[in-house]
Amino acid sequence: MKYESIIGLEVHIELKTKTKMFCACKNDPDERHPNVNICPICTGQPGTLPVINRSAVNAVIKVGLALKSKINEITKWDRKNYFYPDLPKGYQISQYDYPICLGGELTIPNSAKKISITRVHLEEDTGRLAHFGHIGHSLVDFNRAGVPLMELVTEPDMTSGEEAGAFAQELHLLLRYLGVSDADMEKGQMRIEANLSLKSVGAKELGVKVEVKNLNSFKAVRDAIDYEIKRQTGILENGEKIIQQTRGWNETKGETVLQRIKEESHDYRYFPEPDLPPLNTNMEMIKEIETGLPELPGDKRKRLKSEYGLADEQINILVNNEKLAGFFEDVVSELQELEIGEKKQLTTLSANYILGDFLGLLNEASAEVDDVKIDAENFAELMSLIHKGTITTRAAKDVLKEMWATGKDPNTIVGEKDLRQTQDTGEIEKAVSKVISENQTAVADYKKGKEIALQFLLGQVMAATRGKASPEIIAEILKRLLN
Ligand code: ZN
Ligand code: MN
Repeated sequence: MKYESIIGLEVHIELKTKTKMFCACKNDPDERHPNVNICPICTGQPGTLPVINRSAVNAVIKVGLALKSKINEITKWDRKNYFYPDLPKGYQISQYDYPICLGGELTIPNSAKKISITRVHLEEDTGRLAHFGHIGHSLVDFNRAGVPLMELVTEPDMTSGEEAGAFAQELHLLLRYLGVSDADMEKGQMRIEANLSLKSVGAKELGVKVEVKNLNSFKAVRDAIDYEIKRQTGILENGEKIIQQTRGWNETKGETVLQRIKEESHDYRYFPEPDLPPLNTNMEMIKEIETGLPELPGDKRKRLKSEYGLADEQINILVNNEKLAGFFEDVVSELQELEIGEKKQLTTLSANYILGDFLGLLNEASAEVDDVKIDAENFAELMSLIHKGTITTRAAKDVLKEMWATGKDPNTIVGEKDLRQTQDTGEIEKAVSKVISENQTAVADYKKGKEIALQFLLGQVMAATRGKASPEIIAEILKRLLN
């Protein structure tokens, strides 16, 4: 029997706000000292009253608008009741029947598949427990208690670990573009759970749902889901039944592990939060947030393609590196000011150099564009020197390295190092003759038909002329003199 898998995700995201969700305590994920950003409100003391953090609400509206969700005009707060030591109030203020955003979609790049969003709501995070097994106790830190937490739920639209991973990655990118969260998965700022079930191909009835928790990397999302699909397929093929349960992901073993078996769904006894009135999201405010939206990753991909005709791999690198994309566009606009014409060729040349040699230098130094000495104007100048044939591509490599090291403009470097491409064939001929007389073995090899020997000789002449002569001209002269 063939099975198909049906996967939905639940994603919790810590929002990057100055203060917590319902009090004035600092929201500082990097605070190392426990229990310093706390107050009577976020530690659940009796008699305190929560106050809504409007900037957290606005951040969720921003996400909703980017996902084309419907923003509820009236949104309300509810208590989700449960006991756990990291939850000082004994309940979490969340949103049950009137979340801020309903519906929406996010397109997975490359496959262009649209994943529907069920809802996006706002709630508060819990504290953190530190377990000290060897001395038999646990400690609790409430710095994180009450931090604004956005929860996004998708429809069960995904069918593989690969797809779920791609969705999570695109959502991560979107959150960073919007500036609402750093979404650092290692720090727990973006936490993913997958709901997964299998059913026979064509069957109408859904299979039994298994929840996989603590997926804290894109790789974990992919691997845990693929593992679960295999595990469940095995059970079904043996004629056994899947038991509804919650599982965790063991990264080192590369397998999911049983955490608990759910007899029935939790009863959180949701009821409206009596201390907070429903919130009017206000159309004017929504319009204002909408006008302030940045260009989103999906739109940027389309534009980079239509405006510059870049290749998909180039576009992916640029969309994932906003600063480098900005640099590329600055270079192109500088080139247009130089009015050299042949816009298409120059754009392609720039993209190749920026995503090739330049990105190589950046990666080597683990630097970002705005840390380095080369600016867009000088880079554009280098492009035009290559394009006009003032220097060869071989010399361009040296010029770029010198620009990187000193921040000098390329024209100055070309002048100082005498790298201007030479048209003087007499000078090149002299260099070629010298190389021929000094490399008789290679010459003999070439005459025996070894093409590689020609490449060697060409390299020798290039080095002798310090990249000043174009390889085409050298090859021509070389062949002529050898024959
Ligand atoms: Zn507080
Ligand atoms: Mn939640």
